[in-house]
Amino acid sequence: LHRNPGEKEFHQAVHEVLETLGPVLVKYPEFADKKIIQRICEPERQIIFRVPWQDDQGEIHINRAFRVEFNSALGPYKGGMRFHPSVYLGIIKFLGFEQIFKNALTGLPIGGGKGGSDFDPKGRSDDEIMRFCQSLMTELYRHLGEYTDVPAGDIGVGGREIGYMFGQYKRITNRYESGVFTGKGLDWGGSRARTEATGYGTVFFTHEMLKARGDSLDGKTVVVSGSGNVATYAIEKCHELGAKVIACSDSQGIIVDEKGIDLKALKQIKEIERRRISAYTEIHKDAKYVEGGNIWSVPCDVALPCATQNELNASDAKTLVENGCIAVAEGANMPTTPEGILLFQDAKICYGPGKAANAGGVATSALEMQQNASRDSWTFDYTQKRLEEIMIDIHKNCYETAAEFGSEGNYVLGANVNGFLRVAKAMTAMGVI
Ligand code: NDP
Repeated sequence: LHRNPGEKEFHQAVHEVLETLGPVLVKYPEFADKKIIQRICEPERQIIFRVPWQDDQGEIHINRAFRVEFNSALGPYKGGMRFHPSVYLGIIKFLGFEQIFKNALTGLPIGGGKGGSDFDPKGRSDDEIMRFCQSLMTELYRHLGEYTDVPAGDIGVGGREIGYMFGQYKRITNRYESGVFTGKGLDWGGSRARTEATGYGTVFFTHEMLKARGDSLDGKTVVVSGSGNVATYAIEKCHELGAKVIACSDSQGIIVDEKGIDLKALKQIKEIERRRISAYTEIHKDAKYVEGGNIWSVPCDVALPCATQNELNASDAKTLVENGCIAVAEGANMPTTPEGILLFQDAKICYGPGKAANAGGVATSALEMQQNASRDSWTFDYTQKRLEEIMIDIHKNCYETAAEFGSEGNYVLGANVNGFLRVAKAMTAMGVI
């Protein structure tokens, strides 16, 4: 704690992992001898830099940007970039730390990293976004490479921002190095199904948890927080699998549509017009918009937090359980507070932590890297099939690992231990580095 003062989200993420690793250290004492825990908690490299840029009126702004290259035991650092005013080192470190275990769980050769900036893209013009991305990349490019560090998107960073960052990387390095970024556009090296992958993967994982209890998503009522990339495609896949999503949100309010969220309207508002979710009621007059509303108070069978960290606290968890919710899977990273997780576990409902449930995004990013390396481009159906198989595997591995360590059904322990074992074994094999 004293080495990382004030980084409360990082402390929370580390605590959640370490408290499940006791039985592993008993079974594998060599990991304690080799100080794997101490090493894994210390990033291999942290980069913090200034991003100066000019707005459309010519005024100069200074933002701060980060890239935390956490662990490269299994492959190049891999993890998204987040643009949000709340970003500081503690947020990027929590995300980078979780990314190590998540990426290991995919079974693909990717290490863990994360980056971002306290830049707020809301209300900025395309030109301003471009100038900001170019300025950021003018510093960051020297730390990236398809064998070194491969960023992608996250909150506030989608296809548009990746385009501007990749363009500047290409210009400075004079290399068309497709594998240095994932989440690219389909015409310039992107993978089909990457945009959909995190949301789809979260729903595949949810379906597997329910199947393990002899149930399914068919006919279930679902509530999804957020209305960004992850939320949108979680809603799409829920509907495809026969469930009905009746509510979603943004940082200002919630929409409840008992008929089921109209995805076409949602995409029009969020992806094309880039407006607030409140605009949904202009299209569906019978839907309800509640400014500042709490999405977790909407009764549902399944809850999918897909917005941001610590968005679901103990009181929300209690409300969900009392309202009969049977499954929670995290599309977002660390959206449930530790007290909320305990409540879900005590109630014995299915609870899928983000590390496992939202790993489909980074897994498909690794599939994008595979396509780039072989100069290939797969079909949507083939890529989605690979994604589904990976999510089924992650579920199985978490389930079996939890059972092996005496905690059947505890996906938190299953995900942490399974991911940790893969990284710890590689770190041990590579010596003290
Ligand atoms: P987007 O920027 O596309 O969407 C984020 C959504 O969450 C928006 O609806 C936003 O509302 C809402 N939100 C963001 N911050 C807050 C906040 N402080 N309070 C309330 N609502 C908030 O991001 P993504 O969909 O890409 O990411 C969502 C989550 O999923 C994040 O936790 C991210 O780390 C995680 N994730 C994303 C992956 C990906 O592939 N994109 C992969 C794995 C995990 P508003 O527009 O009002 O800000």
